[in-house]
Amino acid sequence: MFAGKTTELVRRVDRARIAGCEVLVVSHALDDRHGPGRIASHTGLAVASRAVTRAAEIPGHLQPGTVLVAVDEAQFLGPELVDVVTGLADDGLDVVVAGLTVTFDGRPFEPLPSLMALAESVTRLTAVCTVCGRDAAYHVRLEGAVAGGDALTTVAGYVGGAETYQARCRAHRTVTGQSSTSGTKL
Ligand SMILES: [Zn+2]
Repeated sequence: MFAGKTTELVRRVDRARIAGCEVLVVSHALDDRHGPGRIASHTGLAVASRAVTRAAEIPGHLQPGTVLVAVDEAQFLGPELVDVVTGLADDGLDVVVAGLTVTFDGRPFEPLPSLMALAESVTRLTAVCTVCGRDAAYHVRLEGAVAGGDALTTVAGYVGGAETYQARCRAHRTVTGQSSTSGTKL
C-alpha cells in the first residue's frame, strides 16, 4: 500500500499501448474509489479498466489481439485468480498483476504469494514508513477508521486510502495502543 504498485502497473500499460499492443486492464467492481471502470495511482495516473467481480470473468473481456492483461488490486479477486492468470499465460498472453502481499495484520494476503511463486518475474515495491521513513513492507489500519467486522480482508473492508491505512516498516507495524501481532516473522 502506497508503494507505487498502481503507478508501475499504469506505466507498463502505457508502454504496451505506445507499442501498439491491445491491453486489457482489470479492476474489481467494488473498488470504485476512482470511479467505476477506472484505476488510479496515488500520484494521479489513471487508466480505464474493465471492472469484474470474479476472476473467472476476466477471459470474457479479452479482445482479438489482446497481448497484455493488467490486473490491479489483485488481492480483491481471491485465490481463483491463480488459475485464471495461469491459463492466460499458458495461452501466450503477458499478464501483469499488482496487489498487496500482506494483510494489515502482517499475514500473507492471497493470491499474491501464490502468484509470486508462479511468476517468471516479481517486482517487490515498498512504501515509506509513516513513522520513521524507512522502507515499509507492511501497512496498518488506523484505529477506528473502518468497521470491518470479520470482513477485514474483503474488498469492503480494505478499500481505503491514507485516511484508513498507513505504510509501516517492521518495527512500526503495529497500531499504537494495540498489542503486537505474534505472526510468523517473514
Ligand atoms: Zn518505521
